[in-house]
Amino acid sequence: MKDLNILKNNCLDEVHALGIKTGTISEWKINNRAQKRWGLCRAKKDGTFEIQIAKMLLTDDRISEKSCKETIIHEILHTCDHCMKHTGNWKKYAIIMNNTYGYNIKRVTSSTEKGIEEPSSAKIVPKYLFTCRNCGVVIYRLRESKFTRNYRRYRCARCGAAMWSRKSCINSN
Ligand SMILES: [Zn+2]
Ligand SMILES: [Zn+2]
Repeated sequence: MKDLNILKNNCLDEVHALGIKTGTISEWKINNRAQKRWGLCRAKKDGTFEIQIAKMLLTDDRISEKSCKETIIHEILHTCDHCMKHTGNWKKYAIIMNNTYGYNIKRVTSSTEKGIEEPSSAKIVPKYLFTCRNCGVVIYRLRESKFTRNYRRYRCARCGAAMWSRKSCINSN
């Protein structure tokens, strides 16, 4: 498991070494719930910031330390003046960090770029694809069913024709 405390101090040093002024980060949290989000930066009422980092970045050994730091720096840069959006200063600083240290800090980073596969829901590939040769409508079926076996007897719900043609979808991954 990566040590968030060591990594974030390291990241802060790298940011400050380039003269980039960061805001006051009053809280660092490891977020166990967020699945879709690697990090989060929240401005608090008192003008300080809270940064959350997905636990998975720290625990998953397939994700490199560099990749983890890219997320940490992404969030640190949000604490700088006029940096809550991914444009303007934020973008400028991200480019400076990337050019100086060889990072790839971006607005969004996919799971694949982090070194892990997309969550399984993204990988569902339908088994069959049916096209109505009359009206061109396309439907997908994930698994074998009465319809997939007897599709010739079914009518198209859109145009009423019984002209389905079937294709097996590529199921390699
Ligand atoms: Zn962001
Ligand atoms: Zn049709």
